Amino acid sequence: MNSTFEIAVFEGDGIGPEITAPTVALLNHLAGKAGGYDLRFVTLPAGAGHYARTGESLPAESLRQAAQADAILLSAMGLPDVRYPDGTEISPQIELRIAFDLFAGVRPVRVRPGQPGPLTLPEGREIDFVLVRESTEGLFHSMGKGEVTRDEARETLRITRDVSEKLFRFAFDLAATRKQAGRGPGRVTCVDKANVFRAFAFFRGIFDEIAQDYPDLTADHAYVDATALWMVQKPWEFDVLVTENMFGDILSDLGAGLMGGLGLAPSADIGLRQAVFQPCHGSAPDIAGQGAANPHAMILSAALMLDWLGIRHENAEMRADGRRLREAVEAVVARGDSLTRDLGGTAGTAAAAEAVQRALDGAPA
Ligand code: ATP
Repeated sequence: MNSTFEIAVFEGDGIGPEITAPTVALLNHLAGKAGGYDLRFVTLPAGAGHYARTGESLPAESLRQAAQADAILLSAMGLPDVRYPDGTEISPQIELRIAFDLFAGVRPVRVRPGQPGPLTLPEGREIDFVLVRESTEGLFHSMGKGEVTRDEARETLRITRDVSEKLFRFAFDLAATRKQAGRGPGRVTCVDKANVFRAFAFFRGIFDEIAQDYPDLTADHAYVDATALWMVQKPWEFDVLVTENMFGDILSDLGAGLMGGLGLAPSADIGLRQAVFQPCHGSAPDIAGQGAANPHAMILSAALMLDWLGIRHENAEMRADGRRLREAVEAVVARGDSLTRDLGGTAGTAAAAEAVQRALDGAPA
């Protein structure tokens, strides 16, 4: 009998619904073909548009259903002119991260040989690494609670043993899975500033302790400033990078830049029970409603979701479908004839997604 997985879907704001529809269609297409699993989608209300209509940004019932789902697929939420009375933006995606303790922010960075991008890769080189950003503490700990007087402002960086241990185990397990799949040498690099801050020496100390449990993998360290340099000079040498929240926030945008922009950058926020899969970009209100949004970051996030579910439930078909979906997007981007405007092409959202479907079916372009 097939296993059925329930996917909570937040269509979100701006371009959100436009990129969600083709992504869900591709997932249904894959599940229908594979036969080894079924997907059931439950669309849940939340976001800035919902807040403007109802005064609620993330209804308790949406949170409850998301908590029970097998995975959460989210497009993008927030609109610049819809705000809470204190002036801050509506960001249910951050509330989900906190509510479900999604400590591991997974930001894969992948550029295939020949794929256009800001770097010219040496012959035979490709970029394929994963940045794991701690997502619940670090310098974001005092988010919204910083102390500000006329003469001084303070924010607090907090690093705990409990979260760091879970984070590092996650990073080593990821490196092991990648190594098994032939996608990396099995190396985890702890990115910190341990030469200056005691909190980062503490972070690094815990990393070294956890590394002892993974004798088959390589553990090394790098300072965050040097990492920024190397991400531009020799990004093909990285495998799994693991770092604090603020450093990860900055480096993940650098990673998106290496891929040629936000339109190709997927992400996952993973905890011990739940996980949210969403593109790195926002709701892009400037192009909403035009059918011009690039769906690829969202489709790649859905591919990560299939891979995560497949590993978690030991379902080889789901893992294979996750890989096929990622490779189909990569093939379409490499071919370059169905690109959306942000990547220099003229295709609309539907045409870009159809090209992925054709690549999946092995049909001619
Ligand atoms: P947030 O703060 O919510 O992450 P942001 O202010 O960084 O959002 P985005 O909504 O990500 O901004 O948009 C930044 C720019 O990138 C905009 O010009 C937008 O049109 C463009 N953009 C973002 N996502 C896409 C996409 N999927 N396809 C095409 N263009 C995009």
